[in-house]
Amino acid sequence: MDLLNTLVEKGLRRELPSREEALAVLATSDDELLDVVAAAGKVRRQWFGRRVKLNYLVNLKSGLCPEDCSYCSQRLGSKAEILKYTWLKPDEASKAAAAGVAGGAKRVCLVASGRGPTDRDVERVSQTIGAIKEENADVEVCACLGLLSEGQAERLKAAGADAYNHNLNTSEATYGDITTTHTYADRVETVRHAQGAGLSACSGLIAGMGESDADLVDVVFGLRELDPDSVPVNFLIPFEGTPLADEWNLTPQRALRILAMVRFVCPDVEVRLAGGREVHLRTMQPLALHLVNSIFLGDYLTSEGQEGKADLDMIADAGFEVEGTDTTTLPGHRGGGCDSPCGSAPADGAEPAESAEPAVSDNASARTDLVTVRRRGAGTDLAPNA
Ligand code: SF4
Repeated sequence: MDLLNTLVEKGLRRELPSREEALAVLATSDDELLDVVAAAGKVRRQWFGRRVKLNYLVNLKSGLCPEDCSYCSQRLGSKAEILKYTWLKPDEASKAAAAGVAGGAKRVCLVASGRGPTDRDVERVSQTIGAIKEENADVEVCACLGLLSEGQAERLKAAGADAYNHNLNTSEATYGDITTTHTYADRVETVRHAQGAGLSACSGLIAGMGESDADLVDVVFGLRELDPDSVPVNFLIPFEGTPLADEWNLTPQRALRILAMVRFVCPDVEVRLAGGREVHLRTMQPLALHLVNSIFLGDYLTSEGQEGKADLDMIADAGFEVEGTDTTTLPGHRGGGCDSPCGSAPADGAEPAESAEPAVSDNASARTDLVTVRRRGAGTDLAPNA
């Protein structure tokens, strides 16, 4: 297939595909799916070999958010019966983080609900970063605290944060349909603040919110322009009690095409398979490892993930290996430790938006009977991330 050969060549050269080529990946048929995965897999192996980086989420503060992001169970007015609590203490967060590190996580992501941190919150998180680094000096710490004000990124960096996450989530054109309390431009500005402070930027998207193919390509091209080091790809978890509770728009095949498109557009970036992989990819998750080089281990912010052991088994069974702390994730030209490509590939080798393009055609076959969304800690006194 000429399209795939072209995309592989561009990916190996880190060259941006055209919008038409990215759209064509999303339009491929199920008959072509394994060819698409194989092609994007060549690009993945060129830059990341068969390594899979594990990341672990610690929800520092859950629920009670004043923002209205439609996809989020922690939003203003959410009726979702999630765990709600205010800031974990540094030692509690450090204990939770240690569980993830023990499972093989190389990065801990400290997340707090809310529009953005106060200076006191930044101080609190700084202490938490210190507590985590004291226990596990090698672990990467990424903060995800919302919109940053002047100077806050610098303070997080000084406290030892390695990275900052703030997702663009969806295209600029549809952003206002998903959230009204802040803008796409606000999000871009925060990612730039983080980069300006020397933090490794992490910014990604949510697919499955009723967006068109063009919206998906727009947000991924927007990410490429912003040039984060890591791009988490979330698939909407339609939470009861949120406006997007009925948006079951994805099939495993569609999810794989989206991941392949992201890999072709962001070839040498840490592409992370994030929330929703279990409910949307289901038994096809191992195929996604050929496209992404990073996943979350364990639970998400307010919902349960697959058991960590099942993830580790899946990685081993699929012929991949967990990336250790002795390896730098990113290739040398992106500031990572490895100056040459990984070499195993030969040189050839998330309220639905209205849009000019129809929503995806394979929505009709989404199998909602196969899955349920499991709330983290539902009906129990389990500690966060237990
Ligand atoms: S995504 Fe973040 S800012 Fe938006 S409602 Fe959820 S916790 Fe609040």
